[in-house]
Amino acid sequence: TVRVRFAPSPTGFLHLGGARTSLFNWAYARKMGGVFVLRIEDTDVARSTDESVEVILDSLEWLGFNWDEGPGVDGPFKPYYQSMRLSFYQEQLLKLLQTGKAYRCFCTAEELAERREKTMAEGKNWRYDRKCLRLSPEEIETRLSQGARSVVRFFIPEGETSFIDMLRGDVTFNNVELDDFVLLKSDGMPTYNFACVVDDAYMKITHVIRGDDHISNTPRQVLLYKALGFPVPQYAHIPMILGKDKTRLSKRHGSPSVTYYRDKGYLPDAMVNYLARLSWASGEEEKEIFTRQEIIERFSLDQVSKHSAVFDLDKLNWMNSVYIREADQSTLVQMLTEILIREQVVKPKAVTPDFIRYCEKIVAVMRERMKYVGQITEDAKYFFTDDFEYDWIAFDKVLMGEGAEDRLVLCQEEFGKLDEFNIEATEDVIRNLTEKHKIKAAQFIHPLRMAISGVKGGPGLFELLEILGKEKVLLRIDRTLN
Ligand code: GLU
Repeated sequence: TVRVRFAPSPTGFLHLGGARTSLFNWAYARKMGGVFVLRIEDTDVARSTDESVEVILDSLEWLGFNWDEGPGVDGPFKPYYQSMRLSFYQEQLLKLLQTGKAYRCFCTAEELAERREKTMAEGKNWRYDRKCLRLSPEEIETRLSQGARSVVRFFIPEGETSFIDMLRGDVTFNNVELDDFVLLKSDGMPTYNFACVVDDAYMKITHVIRGDDHISNTPRQVLLYKALGFPVPQYAHIPMILGKDKTRLSKRHGSPSVTYYRDKGYLPDAMVNYLARLSWASGEEEKEIFTRQEIIERFSLDQVSKHSAVFDLDKLNWMNSVYIREADQSTLVQMLTEILIREQVVKPKAVTPDFIRYCEKIVAVMRERMKYVGQITEDAKYFFTDDFEYDWIAFDKVLMGEGAEDRLVLCQEEFGKLDEFNIEATEDVIRNLTEKHKIKAAQFIHPLRMAISGVKGGPGLFELLEILGKEKVLLRIDRTLN
């Protein structure tokens, strides 16, 4: 069976690039009836944190990439945290040391820097000069017993190293490009390349699908598999996600973190659809919207482009708006109330059944114009506070005009007389006023909208009036007039 894995390092949030890597692994596993493993690569003690593990697990759960083995579910190759697997690395390290495929190195960082500089100054490329390769066993013992710090390096044999990349075909490196890299650091922790190979081998990973920033690690890993006598997996290195300016995706291009989009009120299905379409094409022209099931059915690694993908926030927003229009009302309401609480627009205890009904009405009028649910708190704060800020430029335009305030007073008087304050009744009021005073409806509508919402755009005025209700509307007109 196909066994794939996503192996994040818990040093921060889940990046969109990581999310897409896990998507491709998950989709491939589901398509092939295989197993999707999640492994936490936390051997960098200084940079790994528990919070980051939490954020990554939360992000993956939100995206719906349920893993078959890994944290929380365990599995036959547990534990799934590298920091808890040190004995496996130790075991394989001994094998390499005993067969002379790895050796101890006592060179300090300063010594290495010095020799490196000297070599570079001579115009030569630096790779580790194997100073410690020929140390005798006795010498090594003595140094170790004196407490000297050491690392273990892998001995890179001469020759070339090739592997097949499922997107690129044959990839070959000349081994002189590879250094005798470190397997075990002086703090006793394995390096990424070593731990990754040992775990992928133990966990019987058949396909390594990861970002193409790892392509130069792959020949090192292939050599390690061979030295350890493990079968080499298949590889697919997927392209990076870049910003529009073709630099690595970062804050400047909109946030690169999955949780940012979750918290802004994007739908996970839309996010998955968008990420899937970045560098993957099903071959069906014009088809942009894919359900999870459709992605799984159609997914194949040979349809993944090897060129970098460009993150396009507008496209994501468009896609999300399509999903919002299709979403259940209750899902959107739930998302809205969560955002309102998180952004401290309302207190948790204010979310009563009445308030939820109020939110339902808001969602009903806003969903057609929404890119993401959090837009409601950005563009339509007026639903939740009487004390909103006016868009003063627009305010001056509609309310400083001749007679604008008088027209507001007229509306206020007529609205005050209404028993039923709904779309029909308020619309009637405005119609009667325009007929009676021979003024265009817009002359009432614009100042009214400004008075009750502070902004010039938004849902239809009469819907807005009904949702806000008579009391708030009268109060807000008062506030505007005074
Ligand atoms: N921990 C590595 C990373 O986050 C995993 C790379 C791999 O998939 O081998 O980049």
